[in-house]
Amino acid sequence: MVNKFIVLSISEPILKSKETMPDKVYQECRELISQARGVLQDLQMSGIESIPIDETEKQSVCPVVVGTQTGTLQQGVDCRAETLEEIEIELTNCQSCALCKDRNKLVFGVGNSNAQLVLVGEAPGREEDKQGFPFVGEAGQLLDRILFAMKLSREQVYICNVIKCRPPQNRDPQPEEITACEQYLKRQLSVIKPQMIVTLGRFATQTLLRSKEPISKLRGHWHKYQDIPVMPTFHPAYLLRTPSGKRDVWEDMKQVMHRLREDQ
Ligand code: URA
Repeated sequence: MVNKFIVLSISEPILKSKETMPDKVYQECRELISQARGVLQDLQMSGIESIPIDETEKQSVCPVVVGTQTGTLQQGVDCRAETLEEIEIELTNCQSCALCKDRNKLVFGVGNSNAQLVLVGEAPGREEDKQGFPFVGEAGQLLDRILFAMKLSREQVYICNVIKCRPPQNRDPQPEEITACEQYLKRQLSVIKPQMIVTLGRFATQTLLRSKEPISKLRGHWHKYQDIPVMPTFHPAYLLRTPSGKRDVWEDMKQVMHRLREDQ
């Protein structure tokens, strides 16, 4: 009986909203409801009277506040924290800025959703836009080598960018593009709750730290995003152009490795 009740309680408001719904959507809803009824009737005939429901699924997602250095999830009694999958789904057809026009694939992020360390880059390049994953081009191969030297794999960390769609010709992200997109990065960080963040290059660093200081001044020192320690360092693409910067990056990463070990 429980399952029958659920279908009826979903179907009633939908069937009542015929006037406010486009015909096609209304017909699709009717069809889905009738299919759901059919499945439930089959289950009932085979002796299943109720379907357990995951209590967390019944709760709605808490509202997210994204402001100065925030991006915190307001987790309460009546709501639950959102998931990375939910944020990614929300972004699927994102049209919040002009970058959506030339987008081939949106680049959300990869890695461990419980990562201790999150690395944040700037924006997808050509290869990332083609494949839909961050840091898979030449700069990504260098990042892989940096991670290897740190005795870390891509599977252990989480990698994402401030901007999720490729700027044309890899130009710098515009302030309005950062404003439109940064809430998604902040929500990703709120879900993962990493122990540490490494910001790669100027844009990721200045966005998370709300700073206008040059990367050359910010790198190599610990900062904080909310309560999370942040180590800014040079972007791997910069290192491809300026290999002499690798020594500084290695010094920065040694600090990260040391702190990661200390915190374990
Ligand atoms: N540069 C970035 O900042 N991010 C990527 O994903 C690739 C290159």
